Amino acid sequence: MAHALKIKSTGRRANLGYREEGMMVDSKVVDLINRVCDGHFLTEDEIICLLGAKAHSPEAGFIMGASDALNRKASDNLAEIHAQIGVNLSPCPRNCTFCAFAAKNNIFKESSELSPESVIELALAAESQGANAIFFMTTGHYSFGRFLEISRGVRERLKPDTVMIANIGDFGQQEAERLKAVGYRGIYHAVRMGEGVDTSINPETRLATVRAAQEAGLLVGTCVEPIGPEHTLEEIAEKIVIGRSMKPCYSGATRRISIPGSEMERYGMISEYRMAFIVAVVRLAMGRNLIGNCTHEPNVLGATAGANLFWAEVGTNPRDTEQDTSKGRGLNVNDCVQMFREADYGIVRGPSMIYNESNTL
Ligand code: SF4
Repeated sequence: MAHALKIKSTGRRANLGYREEGMMVDSKVVDLINRVCDGHFLTEDEIICLLGAKAHSPEAGFIMGASDALNRKASDNLAEIHAQIGVNLSPCPRNCTFCAFAAKNNIFKESSELSPESVIELALAAESQGANAIFFMTTGHYSFGRFLEISRGVRERLKPDTVMIANIGDFGQQEAERLKAVGYRGIYHAVRMGEGVDTSINPETRLATVRAAQEAGLLVGTCVEPIGPEHTLEEIAEKIVIGRSMKPCYSGATRRISIPGSEMERYGMISEYRMAFIVAVVRLAMGRNLIGNCTHEPNVLGATAGANLFWAEVGTNPRDTEQDTSKGRGLNVNDCVQMFREADYGIVRGPSMIYNESNTL
């Protein structure tokens, strides 16, 4: 059955109503979006076609508008804010070039971590501020046993229905089952841009972690990240398709934040406009029904192009050179709520609807 959002197109091109030559949307773009509205999942080539729309063109605007309409319909115009607590920092030997914790980037020379009491305090604060889920993040080589111990303490203090999500390094089946047993609803995991080249981690290892998590009954959220200006349309499309193949409960897009002195600083960063455009293509590529799509860092433009999930951050942050990101790049829950209100979104009250079994791809 045709989706209610289906766009009417007559003739070879859809006229937007402007008289000027060129102020029309290419019918190929209209057709692809209509197919998404009919339940089609875009192929990698079709994703590349959308990603290749010229910046600031009617096609780009049309893609962003269509993604916005599709996402609002799927989510019932509701957005979520997930809080992330960065538990530790240390010079990480995994050396992902884009990360502030990478040992080779020389940002943090000593290891440190929040006390279990501080983690509990921050988690309780996020819960009372209305975060729909709370993420606990560590560097890639942090002790799994210690993470479980801290998690257990937090779980005991949070309300039973507060959603806990683990954002940690790679793990196997046993660890996945222990995460589930301690009370995690899901994980965040991604095959990042340049995985295996700009990181020392094999993409297969990332995917094996996702499989282990899902076999243990954990839901997986993912994102196309961290995107820089040097990434080709082909690599972005490849990562969109890999993310989709994980059958996640949400996807999205995040830009790389330049870490001063890192090898990647020379490439610079993509603009919020570009990020919002990619967010739109990711949303369309995930099909018409997924209720979650994220962007980071939070911005209103992204929320008008198909993003309805933002993160509020405290503690350590791989995109920040501040030890406590709440004094640096991190926004709080209320900042994110305000941005969504500016984008005319309502906010989900209570536990995340995105991290929900019935909403995975
Ligand atoms: S992204 Fe994770 S694994 Fe990679 S360097 Fe940073 S903390 Fe380590």
